[in-house]
Amino acid sequence: MAASTLALVRQLRFCAGHRLHGHEGRCAYFHGHNYRVDIEVVADGGGSEVDAVGRVVDFSLIKSRMLGWLDQHWDHAFLIFEDDANALAAVRLVEPTKYFVMPWNPTAENMARYLLEVVAPRVLGDLGVVARRVAVWETDEACAVAALAGPPIDSDIALESAVVVDER
Ligand SMILES: [Zn+2]
Repeated sequence: MAASTLALVRQLRFCAGHRLHGHEGRCAYFHGHNYRVDIEVVADGGGSEVDAVGRVVDFSLIKSRMLGWLDQHWDHAFLIFEDDANALAAVRLVEPTKYFVMPWNPTAENMARYLLEVVAPRVLGDLGVVARRVAVWETDEACAVAALAGPPIDSDIALESAVVVDER
């Protein structure tokens, strides 16, 4: 019989604004979503490895680490592509402001990839778990999924910080 693989999935929610640079339709306008993220984690060693209690990891740790990061950096922020100079100029003009500069256009696909490759390894790394799949839901009907295609690799993409002017 094949051995089991155990994984946890935690849902995380936040609100953010964005626009899609170069989009041919109305996604080029500033707008926002009530985002939902599903993050799936497995033990570093994979398989059915669990701790003495029988857990891959405690759910509350995934919540506190990942939602903590999302609250600080993406929640109530505008996510802006670094090449979108016009949108960056706009979010820098308003006060107070909170925005996050993305290395890619902030599509659900690229947000999922950023969470999987850049954020999760940094914030979950010491827990002995690996995020292997992240889904980003923009609506109740549509999500984008990023999944590890092989063993986790160290991303060379920098983990950016939100820019907050007049924090509240
Ligand atoms: Zn959108």
